[in-house]
Amino acid sequence: MPARRTKIIATIGPAQDPEGALERLLDSGVDVLRVNLSHASPSAQAARVKRARAHRPDIAILADLAGPKLRLGDLPEDTPIREGDTVVLGAGGVPVGDTSLFERVRPGDPIFIADGTLDLISTEVRSDRVVCRVRVGGTLRSRKGINLPLDASSLPAVTDKDRADLAELEVLSPDFVAVSYVRHERDLAEVRRLTSLPLVAKIEKQQALERLEAIVDAADVIMVARGDLGVEIPIERVPATQKRIIRVANRAGRPVITATQMLVSMVTNSLPTRAEVTDVANAVLDGTDLVMLSEETAVGHDPVGVVQMMGRLLAETEPLLQPHEGPPRSLEGNALAYAAARLADDLDAAAIVVPTRTGISAQRLAAFRPHRPILAYSRVPETTRRLHFVWGVTSIDLHVPAGLDSLNATLEAARRDLPPGSRAVLLDIAADNAVGVPSLVNAIRF
Ligand code: PGA
Ligand code: MN
Repeated sequence: MPARRTKIIATIGPAQDPEGALERLLDSGVDVLRVNLSHASPSAQAARVKRARAHRPDIAILADLAGPKLRLGDLPEDTPIREGDTVVLGAGGVPVGDTSLFERVRPGDPIFIADGTLDLISTEVRSDRVVCRVRVGGTLRSRKGINLPLDASSLPAVTDKDRADLAELEVLSPDFVAVSYVRHERDLAEVRRLTSLPLVAKIEKQQALERLEAIVDAADVIMVARGDLGVEIPIERVPATQKRIIRVANRAGRPVITATQMLVSMVTNSLPTRAEVTDVANAVLDGTDLVMLSEETAVGHDPVGVVQMMGRLLAETEPLLQPHEGPPRSLEGNALAYAAARLADDLDAAAIVVPTRTGISAQRLAAFRPHRPILAYSRVPETTRRLHFVWGVTSIDLHVPAGLDSLNATLEAARRDLPPGSRAVLLDIAADNAVGVPSLVNAIRF
């Protein structure tokens, strides 16, 4: 039975290129691999994903679209700039990677470069350049990111690169697609026209916070994308905003990921800082379903050590979790899940066993954070993999023998998987499992 309930996402990158490195990462306890498409196309990442699946066929894959991230172009050399300097971005000045910059900026708007470390203000906007005054200086380097918190343009959320990437996504056969810089639920609708995969909405713009409830409703999974969020809103608002996003996602029964810089000092160090471990623990207590590692695993010196540290930290913190308020119990499925979770806790059941076709029953249960393990059995392999995104769920492929229905097959499999003589709660929510004809029987059995 797993000791850890919070799921771990590890971003893959050059650190997995040495022989055996990816396999060791997969063995270290990650639940999901994130393939970052900001710097590469799906086909450039396909070989890594193929290797991952060869080693662990059940690993879940998250393909993260670049979205309309603005960047500087290629600079001939690093260029220091100082407070008070005038800098031209575009024609006759510092090259930019994407000319939509000039449509997104108005005079007086702030322009942040390199994760907000350089702070400029635009003084003049032309069709091919922006003239800026430097407020906080630093060094301009090739391909550094540009953030425009006040960008009010209605330029498309899905870029040409995203469209091209979505069109060739099948080389990765991912389980989820992450949509970057979501501003409005319409952005998700636009992506849904291009893929039938479930979507992760990355919350990293002020505009997204203004429509948070509607975006959470329209998404399958939510990400607190603290990296860009900390530039797009004043950084001191990040902790309170994280708590709000997690609360809204929990109430809506959507899994939520807390991302970026969780153990970032471990990119070079062998131990995290006190502040980092405390941050991870607090994310768990806030109600996060998953935690994400970015450069820690993609380029860090010891990806396996980072995942192991994360695993120990999560396992140590989870016993402090209180049962959750969860999503509204006026909905029948939620009320049943809540009752099953309570029953399992009260009677100290070995596990809660759930047959689930789409995964929704297991997701409903997890939302109430039962202390007892959740064993979800599905005959749909996509569901088993997608449940790697859900807190506390161990998902198991149900190979249904001929002549046995899912419920009886689940009971048989659970008898095999649980220690002899153990008692379990079984939750069967008819509406979540019906194939074709809706069944009328809901059951909680002990
Ligand atoms: P990114 O998203 O790493 O793709 O930028 C996460 C974040 O912004 O925190
Ligand atoms: Mn981001």
